[in-house]
Parts: sequence; C-alpha cells; structure tokens
Amino acid sequence: MRYHRLGHTDLIVSELAFGAAPLGSMFGVFAEQDGVDAVRTALDAGVNLFDVAPYYGATTAETALGDALRGVDRGTYLLATKVGRYGLADFDFSAQRVRRSVTESLRRLGTDHLDLIQCHDIEFGSPAQIVGETVPALRALQTEGLVGHVGITGYPLPTLAHVAARAHVDTVLSYCQYTLQDRRLAAWEEYFTACGAGVVNAAPLAMGALTRQGAPDWHPGSFALHARCAEAADLCEALGGDLAKLALQFSVTATPAATTVVGTSSPDEVRRNVAWLAEPIDQELLRAVETCLEPVRDRGWSSGGVAG
Ligand code: NAD
Repeated sequence: MRYHRLGHTDLIVSELAFGAAPLGSMFGVFAEQDGVDAVRTALDAGVNLFDVAPYYGATTAETALGDALRGVDRGTYLLATKVGRYGLADFDFSAQRVRRSVTESLRRLGTDHLDLIQCHDIEFGSPAQIVGETVPALRALQTEGLVGHVGITGYPLPTLAHVAARAHVDTVLSYCQYTLQDRRLAAWEEYFTACGAGVVNAAPLAMGALTRQGAPDWHPGSFALHARCAEAADLCEALGGDLAKLALQFSVTATPAATTVVGTSSPDEVRRNVAWLAEPIDQELLRAVETCLEPVRDRGWSSGGVAG
C-alpha cells in the first residue's frame, strides 16, 4: 500500500480508502459480521482512511463502522464523515444542524474527533450558504478540536470548483469521474490543487456499474451507459479478465488524487482489491475496454438540478 499526503493537510492517507456506503446496505443487504471483517481486513492491509456519512443507510453505516472499529487504536486510522445530507431529498446545511450532526456522528462512530468533515453533495445546497455559513461553522468545530479538516463533496465539477475557490476548504471529494468510463476529474485536479484543496477520488467502480454484477437500481446512469458497462464486463470475461479489477487498477493508478475510495462490505472484496493493486494493469485489455466504452465516455447525469 502506498501513502500520500492529502493536499495541504497533515493527513497521510493510503492510496486505497474504505468507502462505507455499502455498510448502510446501499448496495444490498450484507451480513453484519462481513461488515466488521471487511473493516478489519482493510486495516490489516494498511488501509487507513474510512469515509462514511449520516446519509448512508439513514445513519446505519456510521453505526456499523463505529462498531467495527471499536477497540482499534484510534491513532491507526483516519475518519472522514459528512454533514448536510440526511435523506434522498433531505438537506440542511445550516450552522445549527451541521454542529448537531457532527456531535451525532461522533457518538455513532465512538470517537471524540473526526479527521475530516465534508459538506455532503453541495450541489443540492446554496453555494452562498456553504461558503458563508456551513464551512465557517465547521471551522469553529475545528478550533474546538472536534474536527481536523474541512472539505466538500458532490458530483458536478463546476459546482465543486465554484465553492472550492470561495470557501478555502481543505479537500474536495469527486465521485465516478476518474474511472474507465468517465475521466472528467482529470481536467479539474490542478484547479482544486490551486485552490489549496487535496482531492479525493471516490467510486472507482462507478458505483457498481463497472462490475460484473452491475449497478444497483438507484444508480442515476442512463440505460446506454449500463448497457455498455455490461458489454465491457462480458468482453473482460471473454478475454480472461475482470472489469472490476481493470477499473480499480485504472482509477487508482491514473488519478493524481491522494486516495481513491472504494466501497465494500465484504472482506473478500477488500482482499481482492488490495491484491489487484499490486499487479500491473493489462494494457491490451485496457485498450479493448476503452474502445468498448467509447460511446459513453464522459457521459454523466445531472445532480441537484445541475447538468453533469
Ligand atoms: P464504488 O465505485 O466504490 O463501487 C462499490 C460497489 O462495488 C459495491 O457494490 C461493492 O460491493 C462493489 N465492489 C467493491 N469491490 C469489488 C470487487 N473486488 N469486485 C466486485 N465488486 C466490488 O461505489 P461507492 O461505494 O458508491 O463509492 C465509494 C465510496 O466513496 C462510498 O462508499 C463513499 O464512501 C464515497 N462516495 C461519496 C460520495 C459523496 O460524498 N457524494 C459519492 C459517492 C461515493
């Protein structure tokens, strides 16, 4: 496992981070013990950053992650969670709510401090409020020692850039946009860096689309996108490969981001993902899959009313 500094923060993060959305059953039900084993397997493999949110499984992901980490030396891992999103259409970026949200997350995660707190899916909020109210409220919590760093997350890159340039946040998390299918984050990394923010690259498997199993029903991608991804999975299999493996290897090695967050609730997947990173990417397979995905290359979806 390689480690990189996250922007200008003092966080040294593993190149592969643990995404805890699946611990909120967002990708289907899982056995509780598998969730615990996935977290412990990741720690053993050197993964030191865990990303979660109150929104995932209506707080159940935070509770599951907190339970899995109970008894683990707090100095051996970094916790990132979020504020502002609490349901599909339930957003509240007010100072009062985000302060309460952090207190609730601390309790669920069984800790007295968060290493990173992020405004969740900012395209659903008002940029003026995020800049003028939410981030300052989180900076106040930083002064009190409850949070180490402050960041933003979301899908439309221009919205992330607009806020990053004004709010002077420590990190920007972008998802599904440094993958085999969509590389638009590449054009923005330098901008975020110039704003002083470290970049977190999340969802290298395009929220399940770039796997044999395919994406969950709630995935916002188009029919054409999913059809092409399914073709790419078939192609990989026919050529003796695995689409998830290629997607993970590509995303982690191609992005200049400090870390790539992959979601899982299974110890086997964690083991596979870590092992895949130690192998060189199959360049011939990569070219074949890139050709297959070309018709849907950089095709996204709108989020929060902003075209993506
Ligand atoms: P992902 O692209 O990481 O894909 C997750 C899916 O891939 C799950 O179904 C998982 O079971 C499957 N998978 C993992 N390893 C596999 C393997 N070896 N073989 C086959 N399938 C495998 O999508 P994600 O979980 O949505 O994104 C990663 C994390 O990034 C999230 O859990 C979350 O922490 C973060 N994230 C944040 C935001 C945001 O803040 N707005 C958005 C998306 C993701």
